[in-house]
Order: sequence, then structure tokens, then C-alpha cells
Amino acid sequence: MTLFDSPAFEGHEAVHAFHDQASGLRCIISVHSTARGPSAGGCRMWPYHSSEAAMVDALRLSRAMSYKNAVADLELGGGKAVIIGDSKTQKSPALFEAFGRAVEQVGGRYWAAEDVGISPGDLAHARKFTRYVAGLDGHPAASGDPSPVTADGVFRGIGLCVRRAYGSGLSGVTVAIQGVGHVGGFLADNLKAAGARLIITDVNETALREVADRTGAEIVRPDAIFDAPAQVFAPCALGGAITLENLARLKGRVIAGGANNPLASPEAGQAVFEKGLTYAPDYVINGGGIINVAAEIRALDRDEAYQPAWVQAKLDRLMTTLEEILQRSADEGRPTHDIAGEIARARIEEARR
Ligand code: NAD
Repeated sequence: MTLFDSPAFEGHEAVHAFHDQASGLRCIISVHSTARGPSAGGCRMWPYHSSEAAMVDALRLSRAMSYKNAVADLELGGGKAVIIGDSKTQKSPALFEAFGRAVEQVGGRYWAAEDVGISPGDLAHARKFTRYVAGLDGHPAASGDPSPVTADGVFRGIGLCVRRAYGSGLSGVTVAIQGVGHVGGFLADNLKAAGARLIITDVNETALREVADRTGAEIVRPDAIFDAPAQVFAPCALGGAITLENLARLKGRVIAGGANNPLASPEAGQAVFEKGLTYAPDYVINGGGIINVAAEIRALDRDEAYQPAWVQAKLDRLMTTLEEILQRSADEGRPTHDIAGEIARARIEEARR
């Protein structure tokens, strides 16, 4: 399949491919939209089995960033970079310096940040050759770990969903959290402080034990999380957690968590809707992380320090948007993810005009 014929290409402004012979860099920077501002999104390093797979992933992810940034009402468009390679064995300072030169060539139309396989140390090498990198340590504009902000948004989003589905606050409500890593761990702390009961699982025994010790959460085996007697299921591990099979096992009326792409298929998404569950679309409820990155881009652009109050104001606005999505879904009898997509497309289109 050629680029222009790929269904994933539709709507994109530009796709840049870079090769640096000396360092071995092969990377694609995909710019979906700059209508709302320069595109921004993480850089992912992954051992793609073909350049076509890398291209389709970059296209898909950059479009998703346009939607996520628009729903969060950020003055940013959507972009994404993918580096083809194994992050465990093929990283080098030279590779990331070459990546920095590639980002610079895109001329400020793409801001890079961390994603799968990339660390702040890698981005520091890129930064030697371009200013369009966010997520570095040790400067006044630095935004630090985005996970607490992501978890804060997820916590507040769960509160909105519970109010809608059960008419109650979080005190006494049981939440099943799948994955207690960065986001799931902070989320567990917030929920515990609000008086919720927790049932947690993880494949990492150490993380599981640590979170259980400080929150009093009940631990279950990874597969048993779907049978937990909980009002809320909070996916905070990898994508694709919710299948038709395990959806039938969920006991509660709310699905709301930090994980990207938690629905394994469009059929699972439709089944969530038909079952009458309250579902917070992933790229709405987990937008706190990109808001935090946007605060760094804004601070770098203005030569200012990172502003936590700006982040909180954007998070408040995002929660108002989530409430609007839940309300419209109920009023119009349509899935929340359809409405979220509509809002994102309308905001991008408005900016384009
Ligand atoms: P993380 O790697 O710190 O945590 C994920 C946890 O899930 C790990 O502890 C891992 O052991 C566990 N896990 C993996 N497979 C599992 C399984 N089958 N069953 C149970 N546990 C399992 O990652 P994170 O930063 O906390 O991100 C979690 C999710 O949130 C990801 O989908 C990520 O894309 C998304 N997200 C994160 C942020 C952020 O700010 N970190 C922002 C937006 C979205």
C-alpha cells in the first residue's frame, strides 16, 4: 500500500521520513494537524516488523493526538514520531542526536515528548539540536512526571461517572484497578483519600504489594479483576483490556481509567454502550498528562517557569468537557466515544477555518 492510498493517511498534513546512516536512525514524524497550533505528541521507539507498520502506527497515533489535544482545549495540533528499533539494544546518544536534527528540520511544526521506549535522558541528546523537545529534567519550565496529573484527571473523571451512574460520591464505592504502575498507583492514593474501597491487580508483584500496603487495597489475580464486586472498573495497564468476553463479567456500571485504547475492538465499544455502562473515553479522561506536557511547551515558548495553576485550569475545563460528553450521550442515546470524536473534530475544524 502506498502512503496516499492508506486509509490511515486521510486528513494528515505531512509525513516526514528520516534516515541517518551514521547512527542508524530510521524515523517517521507524522503531522496530522497544526490547525490549533504546532503539533505535539510522544516519540515511540519500537521494533516494527516493517516500515509500513511503522508508518501506519505513526499516522494512527498522530491523528489520536489531534483529538486528545483538541478535547483538552490545548493550542496544539496532533503529531507523533516513531523510531524503528529495539529500545533495549539499539539506543545511542548519536541516534537521539540525529533524531533531534530530524525534529529541527520539521521547523517547529512538531514538538516531541516521551512515549514508549523513550526516557528523558534520550530526549536530552535530541535537545542539543532542537528546542522542540518537552519532557526534560532540570530547567524551570520542566513539567516532570505527568502521571500524577493524569491520575488526578482520571480520579475526577471517575467521580463524574459515579455521580451519573449511581447518584453518589466516591465514599464507600468499590473501584477495581487493573495495573497499579505510575497512573494506577497515584489513582489508588486519590481514591483511598476519598473513602473508596479498592480491589487491585498487577503482573508486577512489587508494585502490587507497595500500593496494597499504603492503601489497604484487596489484591486479586490479574484475570480475576473482571469478576471483582466493584461499581467501577478502572483500566490502568495496557491497551485492549476490555473484550466482549470479559465485558460480560464486569459487575459495575462504570468503566473509567487511565489506559489508552482500553477497548479491544469496535464491537467491544458497541457492547459497552448497549449494556448501558457509563464509559469515559480514554483520550478525554487521561488528558491530564498531555496538559502537563503542554504547560512545559508553553513555558518554554514564553521563557517562563512551569505554571501549576495553568495545568489545574485546563484540567477543570477538561472535566467540564467530559461532563458535557456524558450528558449528551444520555440525551442523544449515542456512545460517549462518538460524541468525544465529534467535539474534537468540530474544534479542529473551527480552528482550521
Ligand atoms: P506503567 O507501566 O507505569 O503502569 C502499567 C502497569 O500495568 C504496570 O505496573 C504493569 O505491570 C501493569 N500491567 C501490565 N499488564 C498487565 C496485566 N495484564 N494485568 C495487570 N497489570 C498489568 O504505565 P503508566 O504510565 O501508569 O500508564 C498506564 C496506562 O495509562 C497506559 O495505557 C498509558 O498509555 C496510559 N497513559 C499514561 C499517562 C501517563 O501520564 N503516564 C498518560 C496518558 C495515558
